[in-house]
Amino acid sequence: MKCPYCSSNSDTVVDSRPLDDATVIRRRRECIACNKRYTTYERLEAVLITVIKKDGTKENFERSKVRKGLLTAMRKRSVSTQDLEKIINTVECDLQEIGMEVSSSLIGDKVMEQLKIVDEVAYFRFASVYKDFDSLDVFLGEIKDIVKNKKMEVGVK
Ligand SMILES: [Zn+2]
Repeated sequence: MKCPYCSSNSDTVVDSRPLDDATVIRRRRECIACNKRYTTYERLEAVLITVIKKDGTKENFERSKVRKGLLTAMRKRSVSTQDLEKIINTVECDLQEIGMEVSSSLIGDKVMEQLKIVDEVAYFRFASVYKDFDSLDVFLGEIKDIVKNKKMEVGVK
């Protein structure tokens, strides 16, 4: 950090303390050249996720785009706005753990993972748009699996 008094670049941190839920850290610094003290604030920056699209181009991850896709998939379904935001939050957290750059198909997979739990009809609508099911057979295979699981659930009861 450049000293505001003498412009030297050498300093030592004499004290650090967190403020505001620890998202901001206040540091007292002492200039090694002139021994004067000054304060800096360090703020946590939200991690920006870059999406790599199928054609190789990149764009910033935007919650609004995921929301738009979800709203289309959930049209006339009984999924609350809260559930919807929860899905987006979970997906965003997962992505931040994975890294700075993620593929758009991975985002689709993550959304579908969550959607499958919340609403199966919405899941299939979303999947048909984003996953580009290779063939109708794959699509029907997935439906069969879900129907089979449902029957097993019923069988247990
Ligand atoms: Zn100085």
